[in-house]
Amino acid sequence: MGKKKKSTSSAGWSGDPSELLRVGPDFDLASFDRAGTPGWEGDKDAGEQFMAQRGEELSDLQERLFADGRSGGTRSVLLLLQGIDTAGKGGIVRHVIGMVDPQGVALASFGVPTAEEREHHHLWRIRKELPEPGKIGVFDRSHYEQVLVVKVDELEPADVNETRYDECVEFDRTIVESGTTLIKVAMMVSHAEQGERLQERLERPDKWWKYNPGDVDVREEWDDYQAAYAEMLARTSVPEAPWYVIPADRKWYARLAVTELLHGALTDLDLGWPAADFDPKVELERLAGTSRA
Ligand code: ATP
Repeated sequence: MGKKKKSTSSAGWSGDPSELLRVGPDFDLASFDRAGTPGWEGDKDAGEQFMAQRGEELSDLQERLFADGRSGGTRSVLLLLQGIDTAGKGGIVRHVIGMVDPQGVALASFGVPTAEEREHHHLWRIRKELPEPGKIGVFDRSHYEQVLVVKVDELEPADVNETRYDECVEFDRTIVESGTTLIKVAMMVSHAEQGERLQERLERPDKWWKYNPGDVDVREEWDDYQAAYAEMLARTSVPEAPWYVIPADRKWYARLAVTELLHGALTDLDLGWPAADFDPKVELERLAGTSRA
């Protein structure tokens, strides 16, 4: 997401999230402030107001992408979401993606591989869900689970696992080369905040459906997951397909920041409306000819 003519100059953002949140060689996950609001000068209310405005623009931009896909265009966008339980991936889908027409969205969630999926290479199920031209694809988890849960729980041999980093990056490159703007988002919640969110899920009957006893097992592996995330970010954030790390303790900020990344990606596509493949004048005359008045 290179040259911008949007967020930095708009009220609220003092810096461009696509630069501030991008993982470069000096990124240090251990010292990353998960309650921070990088680049945003206002409070939560201002953030929510700004996000609603952006939502209207996002909706227009998404319609242009959809129209372009219908007219032979090859572009698409893929928002890839990673984050440990409670980091807020679901909230991004509901509150950010929820601002655009669902007809233009292709959402895929990747859980524990099924028996059929296990018979194939791990990228098989991912490739099948890549967005068609004109669509905004959203991945709730992704091929990067291969260097997260698979690594932490040692689900495959270490030497095989070691090859997955380069494999994932190569795969990302093919996605980008095919005309898809890839936005890789890692949502980072603090240990304390995750504890509070899990506690809330346990104390509220309307949240029990979200709770899974395995969530506490994963929490017990916190340090291993943090190390796996740090390594993933260091080895797979490349200029063609960078990671963006989102501080996720403040849900409103995480949603605002992802909205801005998506808005930036769609703006950069710079899509106009497709030309008509009919003569509007002729069609208007034909329409007038159908009048019964
Ligand atoms: P979430 O935790 O994302 O809200 P969920 O609890 O409803 O989702 P699912 O979406 O069914 O659960 O599956 C998510 C689980 O699948 C996570 O624990 C994740 O680590 C696991 N998973 C995803 N990909 C793989 C993989 N390649 N190998 C093993 N486990 C995986």
